[in-house]
Amino acid sequence: MHPLFAKTAMNYEPSTMNYTIHLKRTVILLTLLCSVMLATAQTVNEPGNAPSEWSQPYPPFRIAGNLYYVFTADLACYLIVTPKGNILINTGLASSAAKIKASIETLGFRFSDIKILLTTQAHYDHMGAMAAIQKATGAAMMLDEGDVPVATDGGSSDYFFGGHGSVYQPVKVDRVLHNGDTIALGDIHLVMLHHPGHTKGSCSYLFTVKDAQRSYTVLIANMPTIIAPKKFSETTGYPNIAADYQYTFKAMKPLKFDIWLASHASQFKLQAKHPAGSAYNPNAFIDQKGYDTELSELEGEFEKKLTEK
Ligand SMILES: [Zn+2]
Repeated sequence: MHPLFAKTAMNYEPSTMNYTIHLKRTVILLTLLCSVMLATAQTVNEPGNAPSEWSQPYPPFRIAGNLYYVFTADLACYLIVTPKGNILINTGLASSAAKIKASIETLGFRFSDIKILLTTQAHYDHMGAMAAIQKATGAAMMLDEGDVPVATDGGSSDYFFGGHGSVYQPVKVDRVLHNGDTIALGDIHLVMLHHPGHTKGSCSYLFTVKDAQRSYTVLIANMPTIIAPKKFSETTGYPNIAADYQYTFKAMKPLKFDIWLASHASQFKLQAKHPAGSAYNPNAFIDQKGYDTELSELEGEFEKKLTEK
């Protein structure tokens, strides 16, 4: 090559590179700007036709010690009160935010005292109002690592409800939880138990509360119900689904506790154990047998699903 051409080429190349870098930066900036605009203007399409009990109120009440039930006849939301602030577990549908606030205030607590937000599974029926409550209270959202991606895209990457954009407002995750992690606030210590299958990061919480009489070990369980409509092998959005359920049944069966609660009130028969308006009676929720029976029924359904051809 003629030295002149070589020189020209050498001179030319860096400026091309500068131009390319500049172009790349512009594209990155524009992409960022677009995603910020999209996030701000994000439309959430919560699935319709929800059962009426999912938004039907239930009188808030004290379950045991400093643990309270704060909303809906079926989508169970729990408040744990401590001297250093409160913990809210689950929210129900998007429309629940104001009703949860009203329930908390009816019990004599302050909504703004919520410091930690937790969920038992990142599906819209438990996460619907989470982002709104996070925004209103500034509470820290803590999530099982398996549900972090789905919670931050509002359920659009969920193996079952996904593929149609966000089904709930995405949350900002402040702490990622792993199996056995402790969530501590004031005098309460919750142990997070990773129970995947229903979602990739479904989980339960085990902790102790006490009243003037005694202390109670409480399990708020995410019961491993199966919603995958296809065979496990065809559930491509969740390749490990069968192995995760298997793990979860093995992990859940040996659990021992006094009080059993769950993500859905119907699972632990809230209305039979504590008819609306009844007096404080933690003993009504002492039900290891009910849990064992429910779990073995679900395991039967799981075994059946495994044999589907
Ligand atoms: Zn669910």
